Amino acid sequence: MFCIGVDVVCRWLDKHSFDDIVDMRYHLLVLYGLFCACNFQVMLYGVVWTFYFILPIISGAERTHVNDTFTLRPNTCLMALEGQTLPIAAPCVEAKQFNERVVKLKSLVLSSSVPLSLWRFWSGNSLNKNKAMVEHLQHYGVISSKKVAEVMEAVDRALFVPDGSPPYLDSPMSIGYNATISAPHMHATCLQLLEENLQPGMRALDIGSGTGYLTACFALMVGPQGHAVGVEHIPELVSSSIQNIEKSAAASLLKEGSLQVHVGDGRLGWPELAPYDAIHVGAAAPEIPQPLIDQLKPGGRMVIPVGNIFQDLKVVDKNLDGSVSVRSETSVRYVPLTTRDAQLRNY
Ligand code: SAH
Repeated sequence: MFCIGVDVVCRWLDKHSFDDIVDMRYHLLVLYGLFCACNFQVMLYGVVWTFYFILPIISGAERTHVNDTFTLRPNTCLMALEGQTLPIAAPCVEAKQFNERVVKLKSLVLSSSVPLSLWRFWSGNSLNKNKAMVEHLQHYGVISSKKVAEVMEAVDRALFVPDGSPPYLDSPMSIGYNATISAPHMHATCLQLLEENLQPGMRALDIGSGTGYLTACFALMVGPQGHAVGVEHIPELVSSSIQNIEKSAAASLLKEGSLQVHVGDGRLGWPELAPYDAIHVGAAAPEIPQPLIDQLKPGGRMVIPVGNIFQDLKVVDKNLDGSVSVRSETSVRYVPLTTRDAQLRNY
């Protein structure tokens, strides 16, 4: 929007002489005032645009049309704003130099769009900021799936991170009990790897469900006809994850029972609803637990970090004949899939 605005202003500037602009200053001011009354952000844009007008003047770059060629009267003072364009010296400067200066000014104005968009990011409401986070991940190619983007937009991350943590930062964050909520790019990566196995009506198991964020995303993807089951071994995290989900877009699925979160040892899976089309493990196992392989449906896929200090995100596909193929997607750093005691003793 901002760049389009700058472009419109630049085109408009090209069509009008400086004197035209000065003549219209009151109309422009009223128009700007009206916009400001509508939206504070417009006021900020206006300030930056105004710089576009002012800077050429204070830097002596007033221009007039002479036979369709730009000429410059340098050292024009700020009083130009008052309509008193008083060139102190009048030697003409090459149009080329003028254009170079305008190009510099344009880039200055455009570069100010970065802090502006950051400001927009931090000042919007929670869902807008969550959307901006998803757009950021799309922009950097982490999210390419429309469905994953929609689901991550729908589930506001702010509901899942502890108070005081910046929810939209692309970083893991502590959730207590020596556990973390994974970074948004990791959630996005896992959702994309599992997308084919999270179609409406399918079954998904989320081991080490922690805050419940990913379990909620799974539930939205498989819908009311499917099942999304979270298994977490810290009871306090299970309780808080249920509270988080109750505030989220997946609340109705929790109420209806297609989304469940249980206290349990995730290394054993959750046999009650097996087999699963998708299994996600949110903690690093020294090796892939056999019960999880057993609970994977033929044609199903599991995404699991494997390793101790050096870990790989493994993609485990169960073929239709029951055989299993495993590949490494990327290097990762997760907390261990372990016993509750070891975790509470900080491993
Ligand atoms: N995916 C979640 C949490 C990731 S942290 C999120 O993004 O919010 C890993 C989680 O695995 C922690 O909550 C930890 O308590 C849990 N965990 C570790 N070992 C476990 C086990 N054996 N069984 C169940 N949960 C386990």
